[in-house]
Amino acid sequence: MTPDDIAEAVRHGGGCVRTSTLLNSGATEECLLRARRVEAVLRPRKGIYAVPETPEPIVEAALHGGALTCASLLYLRGVWVLDGYDDVHVWLGSRGRARRHDGCRCVAHWSAGAGGIGAVPLRVALVQLLACRGEEAFFASFESAWNKGLLREEDRAWVRAKVPAGKRWLVDFAHAESDSGLESLVRLRLHHLGIDVQAQVFIEGVGLVDFLLDGCIILEIDGRENHDGQSKRHKDLRRDAAAAALGYTPLRFDYALVRHDWPVVEAAIVGARASRRGRRPVLSEAA
Ligand SMILES: [Zn+2]
Ligand SMILES: [Zn+2]
Repeated sequence: MTPDDIAEAVRHGGGCVRTSTLLNSGATEECLLRARRVEAVLRPRKGIYAVPETPEPIVEAALHGGALTCASLLYLRGVWVLDGYDDVHVWLGSRGRARRHDGCRCVAHWSAGAGGIGAVPLRVALVQLLACRGEEAFFASFESAWNKGLLREEDRAWVRAKVPAGKRWLVDFAHAESDSGLESLVRLRLHHLGIDVQAQVFIEGVGLVDFLLDGCIILEIDGRENHDGQSKRHKDLRRDAAAAALGYTPLRFDYALVRHDWPVVEAAIVGARASRRGRRPVLSEAA
């Protein structure tokens, strides 16, 4: 096998494979040495091969003895993850051994299966996230993955079958329309309060709003990514003014409020609902 063949085999294996896998697929020790010399592949430690572009967390997981999973895998695949990803979540199968290594920041996960290195499939990472980080984190990442087109119907059914029976409603409640993890979080929390909302509603004269409650309260959730601060703020104020002119009550919250000051958000929504009860905007088509 040429160095390129070996690099290709490593890529095919998810970016990180064991030496034994390469030897079983026809490489010899000599080929491996040659591939390392020309830097087609790297050997982060004895027994493990990676390619130069293998993402660092996958290499770290392999150094720890397993495959990247849970929050770390989801983040790597572009899925929204609640509460960060500063650690490396590693799946060790049912009987894998965690290894010490330099700079270890790993969170080990053990569950049925043979383990291995590289990266677990996205749907597996979602199921492990539920056990690791709980219902809100799971729900937000599940909706985000769906929204980004990363979950096929069979993947969603698979996840539903694998999570504990008492959590299946989360999969049933999820939809593909949530634009951000924050929106997912808000929808879930409002559901727990017995408030059902319409998500992504188009209102003539205002535009597409994140949520509409009781046909008259508009709820907008600002994500963390405010690239163009001033002009975005101006646009938001204009939208709020247009909504108020049409008889709606606009409410707007940001990441910090939703994540760290939820009681303030909840009180505002409950208060607005109480004051608006039964009074819908005259002009609203959506009401
Ligand atoms: Zn580690
Ligand atoms: Zn985890």
